[in-house]
Amino acid sequence: MTTEAQVETVSMPAAQMVEVEVKRWHGAADGRVFGWQLLPVKEALRLQEDTFRCPECLGRVRLRPASAEKQTEAYAEHYSKNTGCSLGGHFAGEKHLHPKPLN
Ligand SMILES: [Zn+2]
Repeated sequence: MTTEAQVETVSMPAAQMVEVEVKRWHGAADGRVFGWQLLPVKEALRLQEDTFRCPECLGRVRLRPASAEKQTEAYAEHYSKNTGCSLGGHFAGEKHLHPKPLN
């Protein structure tokens, strides 16, 4: 099984984005606030929303459901890649905000 582990390391060199932010009402009943809420991609997939952003660089992301076929978990990826985000797979080594962050 050592070969299997090696393949996994090679095919996923970057950190996966497994959490995203969505703008919605959240919080307790007596303290509801409208704003960005961090939640797992798995949960985000169940929402009737189409706007999600990266919790690190604030760039817009799209959700990818888990695939049994490809043996991947649900994750998110940037619409336009950001070399300044460590959650993308295009990270150049220095963190900076997305050129078009969602606010
Ligand atoms: Zn990002």
